[in-house]
Amino acid sequence: MSKGFFIDTTRCTACKACQVACKQWNRLPAEKTENRGTFQNPADFSFTTYKLVRMNEEIINDKVNWLFFTDQCRHCLVPPCLLWAQNTDAIYQDKDTGAVVYTPATQNLEATEIIGACPYNVPRRGKDGFLAKCTMCNDRVKNGMQPACVQTCPTGTLNFGGLEEMQQMAAKRLKKVKLTYPDARLLDSGQVRVIFLTAFAPEKYHTYAAAFDAKRW
Ligand code: SF4
Ligand code: SF4
Repeated sequence: MSKGFFIDTTRCTACKACQVACKQWNRLPAEKTENRGTFQNPADFSFTTYKLVRMNEEIINDKVNWLFFTDQCRHCLVPPCLLWAQNTDAIYQDKDTGAVVYTPATQNLEATEIIGACPYNVPRRGKDGFLAKCTMCNDRVKNGMQPACVQTCPTGTLNFGGLEEMQQMAAKRLKKVKLTYPDARLLDSGQVRVIFLTAFAPEKYHTYAAAFDAKRW
């Protein structure tokens, strides 16, 4: 069944449990943390960090807002990265779930082209030339389980299920959130399987939060 996420950033507390669960399930090593004047660590995605809670301070309507954005691959409905790979089998889209999965054969692709093709700036290259990113925990999902990040989220920020169900959940929640935050919106909801709801314009959270809504596109 075609799957999707609904990520309601208005509920996120930046506890980072999702980031840790992703590392644990995928057996990814920790990265050295560093005080860069923010609690966000590491600074960005890497070959061993597929899920990252981004944190940004913004003054909006004379108030300081701490914006949290639990970033990951959007598993695009028509994935630009897969199109650039030109049916090499290095990147495939699971026919049941819709997950976009990278294989070790990504080593044979031109990494800068694949990374450049992603409008969300997600894939990262490792030392050996392989590319990596979120897999949707396709192994778990194919066995009837939730992705590890969703399973662990304590606040209801991360939701996972049938794509249509997630689209409906997102639309319903948006109506409610708009009563408090008139600028609230769903990001690229017709193009991706990972639908984010933000209270404010996406560029306030992260440069690559939205591809199709943002001014640069
Ligand atoms: S686990 Fe949930 S609440 Fe915690 S940082 Fe991740 S999305 Fe936010
Ligand atoms: S978000 Fe980027 S890496 Fe993920 S499927 Fe879309 S183009 Fe590919």
